[in-house]
Amino acid sequence: MIQHMIRIGNGYDVHRLAPELPLYLGGVKIPHTKGAVAHSDGDALIHALCDALLGAAALGDIGLHFPDSDPAYKGIDSKILLTKTMALLETAGYRPVNIDAVVALQAPKIAPNIPQMRSVLSQLLRLPQDAVSIKATTTESLGFVGREEGVAVYVVCLIAKQ
Ligand code: MG
Repeated sequence: MIQHMIRIGNGYDVHRLAPELPLYLGGVKIPHTKGAVAHSDGDALIHALCDALLGAAALGDIGLHFPDSDPAYKGIDSKILLTKTMALLETAGYRPVNIDAVVALQAPKIAPNIPQMRSVLSQLLRLPQDAVSIKATTTESLGFVGREEGVAVYVVCLIAKQ
């Protein structure tokens, strides 16, 4: 088997939005009238990021390692899931190189929150902030995101052999 030094991963996550729930993205609480319906804290950005990292190392997915049927993960801070994912990656002999995320959300505008999200994630990933890219888009009012029924997040990452 060829041992590549650099590998790519991608992750995707969706959470339904409902009134009077907290909205967490990238480890940051976003002020909004709606939040994520979830077993954990519903941080779709961190969930997609964990899946991208696990995928890059072919270690399965977030549902395999942190099943939502397990009461241990009820209401869990997703930053803990990312820390555990980093430990799995490290055990497999890899470290992240960079990540690039797209958050699809109709409202609210998260541009003001992105610097804090990059700061939180760069610390958890042990990367400089210029290796942590987070972008936001609406879907022009189309589809479930456009109807403000949910949030969708796409993440790609590179990982390298330690
Ligand atoms: Mg999720």
